[in-house]
Amino acid sequence: MTNNLPFTLDESGPVSYLTFDTGLPVWLAFSTRKGGVSRPPFVSANMAYHVGDDPGSVAENRRRLAAAVCSCRDVPLYTASQVHGCHVLPVNRGMPIGELEKQPADSLVTADRGILLGIMTADCLPVLLIDRKLRAVAAVHAGWRGIMARIVPRTVAAMKKLHGIAAVDLLVVLGPCIGRCCYQVGEELVREFAAQPPFAADSTWYEQASGDYHLDLVQLQALQLREAGVPPAALAVASRCTACENFFFSYRREHGITGRQIALVGLTDGENARG
Ligand SMILES: [Zn+2]
Repeated sequence: MTNNLPFTLDESGPVSYLTFDTGLPVWLAFSTRKGGVSRPPFVSANMAYHVGDDPGSVAENRRRLAAAVCSCRDVPLYTASQVHGCHVLPVNRGMPIGELEKQPADSLVTADRGILLGIMTADCLPVLLIDRKLRAVAAVHAGWRGIMARIVPRTVAAMKKLHGIAAVDLLVVLGPCIGRCCYQVGEELVREFAAQPPFAADSTWYEQASGDYHLDLVQLQALQLREAGVPPAALAVASRCTACENFFFSYRREHGITGRQIALVGLTDGENARG
């Protein structure tokens, strides 16, 4: 049900990141853990201040990534304090970056050109939403709690209300996250999802083998997006498991002590139309 657009690994700068050519004047990137300056256990491209890493290292990692993604221009990068909630925060160019960092939110939306929105993950699903008519973009942190709280449909609704977008015009990019292969969960969680539309009518989002349940965050999100009016062909899926691949930070594989990758999206301001 998803469209596998060709993701590419950009290694032109120090920090490697996944991207693909949307054909639109937007910045789009999912960082890996490769090419940063952080020391163990955050080796090496940790993008999060809240995990206990040296702040100078995090700033340098973010600077390296933004420079590579935005062709060496100094573009402001906005992140919030992620709490596995469902609050959608509108972001405007000129807001103090440090102020936004303290605000609890798991979804950032903007219509402004020339800024980057960032969501940090280490197994949760990063979701980037791009209006093909360039009215707005959004970055969302969607773990199982966020999906259950309908954070992505809430983001689509906020983009409609604030910026007049239509769900049919969206391109939605699902980045690297823990895959069905590694995401063993309790039966209770599967039951909780099964009680909620649109999951009740479908069983493609989990697997049961010899008493173990495995959850598929990408499939849960895809079903919810379809319900929100986003055409299945408008989804691009990275299909990379953060827990299988050492190339990414994984909360589960590293038992909670690890760094975070970052998913970035932004509307370019015309001076640089690199996709
Ligand atoms: Zn896996």
